[in-house]
Amino acid sequence: MLTGMQIAVFGGDARQLEIIRQLTEHDAKLSLIGFEQLDHAFSGATKEKIDEIDFSAQDAIILPVRGTDLEGHIDTIFSSEKITLKKEMLEELPPHAIIFSGISNPYLDEITKETNRRLVKLFERDDVAIYNSIPTVEGTIMMVIQHTDFTIHGSNVAVLGLGRVGVTVARTFQALGAKVSVGARKSEHKARIIEMGLTAFDLNDLEANVKDVDICINTIPAQIVTASVISKMPAHTLIIDLASKPGGTDFRYAEKRGVKALLAPSLPGIVAPKTAGQIQASVLIKLLREDMKKREENQS
Ligand code: NAP
Repeated sequence: MLTGMQIAVFGGDARQLEIIRQLTEHDAKLSLIGFEQLDHAFSGATKEKIDEIDFSAQDAIILPVRGTDLEGHIDTIFSSEKITLKKEMLEELPPHAIIFSGISNPYLDEITKETNRRLVKLFERDDVAIYNSIPTVEGTIMMVIQHTDFTIHGSNVAVLGLGRVGVTVARTFQALGAKVSVGARKSEHKARIIEMGLTAFDLNDLEANVKDVDICINTIPAQIVTASVISKMPAHTLIIDLASKPGGTDFRYAEKRGVKALLAPSLPGIVAPKTAGQIQASVLIKLLREDMKKREENQS
């Protein structure tokens, strides 16, 4: 249980609702910021405005997956209010307070570093990233079906990157009957791709490996699907870019060439917010319990 814990949960999307539900079930006391348009009420949770929050009383702050933008603004679909996380707010937190986010950016890194606060990036954890890759791939399949007039079965699919998302993408499209090739730069990744029964290619040879590709799925958060690569693709190729914003595709050139290229962020929050929220909540509760136990031990 999280009895006695005071946590501020900030905006976001439907994933936060599952997190709120589970934290209140574990008896934590919650302040909800950026939820005033949400009809549902949770017992043990109070909707508040950011300037009403007593930051000195919070044991933890839970931000949406994206954290903040580069100016500190927090996205929320449940409010029209502008919510900005400022350094002064973090300064008020007690020293033990933890700030949870999915990913980070230079703004969030800087304000947490300058205030000497602990920032936990949940999506850097392998367990969260691997579980989260499941709804990500289900969302990718949905997008591919919506934006093509041919079957996945029998299509040439190029997956770029063999990280936690890339493995699940490659394996799932293979299971759907696609001819999957995977681009990687590490020799151990190429060995794994071959072990999986797929075709491996070096990312240095990307241009040569997209000549007959029907669907290209990028998971690499770096400019990799360049104008030169896109110029080698057939005009009907669909590019789905899963990498975090701004993605790894030259979208301007793709549009100019008439190749459909879609940046597809936050798919778990779109196709399976309940499951995605459960994935985050289970790790959050584990980490909060560990922190609580450590503080109790230090006090005794
Ligand atoms: P990951 O495990 O770190 O994998 C990233 C992959 O990209 C690795 O194969 C890595 O190869 C490769 N890579 C990174 N930089 C590279 C570069 N400069 N050149 C060539 N290869 C490079 O990350 P992940 O968990 O799979 O996530 C991948 C991306 O998807 C992230 O941007 C993440 O935020 C995003 N994501 C999006 C969604 C969505 O809904 N759209 C959902 C989940 C995650 P090396 O090992 O050789 O470095």
